[in-house]
Order: sequence, then C-alpha cells, then structure tokens
Amino acid sequence: MNLVPHTPSPADDDTALTLRCWGTRGSIPSPGPHTARYGGNTTCLEIRHGGQRLIFDAGSGIRLLSREMLSERGGPHRIFLTHFHWDHIQGFPFFAPLFTPEAELEIVAPEQAGVDARTLLAGQLGPIYFPVPFSAIGTRMSFRRPSDEAWQVGDITLRSMRVKHPSHAVGYRVDVGGRAICFIPDDELEGVGYDVGEGWRERLVDFVRGADVLIHDSMYTDAEYPSRTGWGHSTFSESLRLAEEGDVKQLLFFHHDPDRSDEELDEIVSRLRDEGMARGCAVGMEAAAEGLVLRLEAR
Ligand SMILES: [Zn+2]
Ligand SMILES: [Zn+2]
Repeated sequence: MNLVPHTPSPADDDTALTLRCWGTRGSIPSPGPHTARYGGNTTCLEIRHGGQRLIFDAGSGIRLLSREMLSERGGPHRIFLTHFHWDHIQGFPFFAPLFTPEAELEIVAPEQAGVDARTLLAGQLGPIYFPVPFSAIGTRMSFRRPSDEAWQVGDITLRSMRVKHPSHAVGYRVDVGGRAICFIPDDELEGVGYDVGEGWRERLVDFVRGADVLIHDSMYTDAEYPSRTGWGHSTFSESLRLAEEGDVKQLLFFHHDPDRSDEELDEIVSRLRDEGMARGCAVGMEAAAEGLVLRLEAR
C-alpha cells in the first residue's frame, strides 16, 4: 500500500482506491488568505474505485467536483450525506448533474426526526431559500437510508454508524480489496447525552479498526473544547486517540474551524507529530487539505 499525495489519472479507477478532498472546512465556507492552503470550502469527499465514484457530503466543495462530472454522462451518481446541517448540504443545489435530464442520482442519507431525505432536500430548494424549484430537477433521483448492515456498490462494501452529534448524523466506512477509508466529519467523541446506545465507544473503535485512512472531526484544540462542549465536535487529540485505539494507519484531521488559519493547522499538526513520535505513536497524521488526493494501491 502506497499512501502518497497523487495527481489523479483515469487509470486510478481500475484497481486503486482513491480519495480526494473537495471541502475540508466546518460550519461555513471561509475563503481568504488565511485558509488558502487547507481550503475554505465546506465538507465534500470523493472516493473512486473500479469506475465508481462515491461522493460524501454536499458542502460547498461539491460544486467544483460536479463541474468536473459534467463531461460524464448519466451516472448513476451517488451522494452519501452524513446529516443535514448547512455545511454538509449547502452545495447540493449547485450540484450540476441535478439539472441534467438523462442523469441518475442515488442519495443515501439518514432520516431526521422521521422526515425523509427527499422532503428535507425539497425544503432546501423551496422558494424561500432558493430560486430554482425542486420540481425543476431533471435527474432521476432515488433515495435510501444507510443501515448498520453492510451493503455493496459493485465490489465496494459500505457501512454506516450513528455518531455523537446534534441531529441524526452518521459516519461511513468504505472497504474494498483489503483497503478501508472511514469518513466521520462531525462527531463529538467526548460528548454526553447523545442517543447512540450502549457500548458506543467500543463499537466506534471497531468501526474504524484497521482503516488505512480515518477522516475525523478535529475542530477544536484541547484549550478551546471546554467552552464548546455539546456543540457536536471533537478535538485533534481525541481524534488521534480514536485512531490509535483503532490501529488506523493515517489520520486526516477534518472539519477545520472556519477561524483556523493555515499556520495554526501547521503548528498543531507538527506538535502532535512530535508528541506522537516521542511516545512511539504509529499513526500518520495530517490536516486534510482541499485538493489532497490519496491513492491506496491494490495489495
Ligand atoms: Zn459540520
Ligand atoms: Zn453538523
């Protein structure tokens, strides 16, 4: 397995498992000189394998991804939503294939308080919020709820798990040919009072176990967290602890605070690497950057 920053090529679709970050920011887009390197777009991740493209979350980063898709006819396109907070759906109305009549789109998303994904997205495209009505969408859409049971897309195995976050939020795990990527953008590891059931921590560690790449909510520093408990997000150090417990190979800190500068991210990650090296931590770590591509070769 090679885990190196990589320029994508068509050959990637055959045997490699490739991920690309299109948006790494939490809460609200934050463009500007202070975020130029790690990016200001909100959460969107692309995973490709075997001619399949899976899109996770529809934050503002999905807009540029979807422009790249316009030359590809039809689909089926697949979007997996973790939940419906703004930063995870605000790019959806700008997902270009929506208005391509011959396209097919499957949306996988958890219900929110008994309201299904179609109704929630139709509300987002209601006339109060957006000028183009939901009924103008030309693509054929289908919807399904993620389940705790594994399901397949081609030879890709998908799983989901409910995480600690206000509203019903899930994380996803993608397995193919002995390689695995976990995407958990919003999750308050130390949070209390969430409706996640008994033994949640142990189940979460199992969920991420052995992953080649874990992309996890790391919005706050240890110093910031005490004044933000209950807001649904984790610290860098808690994400690292989860990665270590789960024997994850590479951790990508994700869902960067909109006020977090590139320089701060560099400093935080550098310090965590130094501390990790001093105690023999085997987890590779870096802050997810918009445009980052990682390629996991077939074993
Ligand atoms: Zn978020
Ligand atoms: Zn959220």
